[in-house]
Amino acid sequence: RAKSAGGNRFELADPEADARAITRHGLTTSLPAALERGEFFIEYQPLVHLGDSSVRGAEALVRWLHPQHGVLGPDRFIPLAEHTGLIVPLGRWVLEQSVRQAREWRERNGDTSPLRINVNLSPCQLNHPGLVQDTVDILERAGVEPEALCLEVTESALIGADDDLLKPLRRLAEMGIDIALDDFGTGYSNLANLRRLPVSVLKLDRSFTQSMQQFPADPVDLKIVEGIVSLAHSLDLAVTVEGVETGAQAEQLRILGCDTAQGWYYARPGPPDRLHELALVDATG
Ligand code: C2E
Ligand code: MG
Ligand code: MG
Ligand code: MG
Repeated sequence: RAKSAGGNRFELADPEADARAITRHGLTTSLPAALERGEFFIEYQPLVHLGDSSVRGAEALVRWLHPQHGVLGPDRFIPLAEHTGLIVPLGRWVLEQSVRQAREWRERNGDTSPLRINVNLSPCQLNHPGLVQDTVDILERAGVEPEALCLEVTESALIGADDDLLKPLRRLAEMGIDIALDDFGTGYSNLANLRRLPVSVLKLDRSFTQSMQQFPADPVDLKIVEGIVSLAHSLDLAVTVEGVETGAQAEQLRILGCDTAQGWYYARPGPPDRLHELALVDATG
């Protein structure tokens, strides 16, 4: 098949692009049944305190065990779920599972090191009128206090957000839930805008961590991170860093004053029992 590209030029069809489009279409139409059949599962990646390396909690990261394609990462299907609106029930499912998991860790771990749970929220969920009530119900059913939950919203989702979009986030923040600004530094952030947002955590994007690969790191990058951390702290925001892959990065970021870290250096995302073990080893020394 050759497509006319206007004039007398011809463009050969790209079979790989066609295959990708077919897969995308197939994935999109099978999403609702996948949710009903229980094909989604969640991996947890520890959030580690940079000062004493203790595990403080975990981020929930959803995966799809597809019967034909195997395990698919969220980048493959979250955009499709957002497009069709399935993200609302899927996101609710992720929240419910994660909060229950946090409850279970607490029961097994005792109250000595209560693990917190971070859950990603898509902008579509923010627009959904049931968000606040659903969240309240889920926490109550699981018997988990709001302070144990952190909802992550990407910086790009909140750029230029009007009051209608911020209202549910404010309500959640007033209840004691932490709101984190995810992938911070990738958007065209207006730093003064930060004061307007009901956020209590900045999650510094992996691109900053990557620039800490060399030791000592590029002095300009160091200055930028130092500036962000000091601004964040002056606004009473905690700073979490993503994508820490080496001890050198962890050390640089600790020196720069970052509070919490997440990345392969500590642990890859994994099953809930793995997180429990990491936290226990940690608590018992
Ligand atoms: P994110 O929230 O920024 O999550 C961090 C991503 O970085 C995860 O990718 C994680 O596996 C990866 N990562 C962690 N440590 C390292 C590291 O040291 N090096 C590198 N190279 N990568 C690291 P993942 O699991 O593929 O998730 C991708 C994105 O999908 C997430 O980015 C988040 O935006 C979205 N996502 C995941 N789960 C959900 C969900 O339940 N709901 C929504 N709306 N989005 C989700
Ligand atoms: Mg996140
Ligand atoms: Mg992130
Ligand atoms: Mg990121």
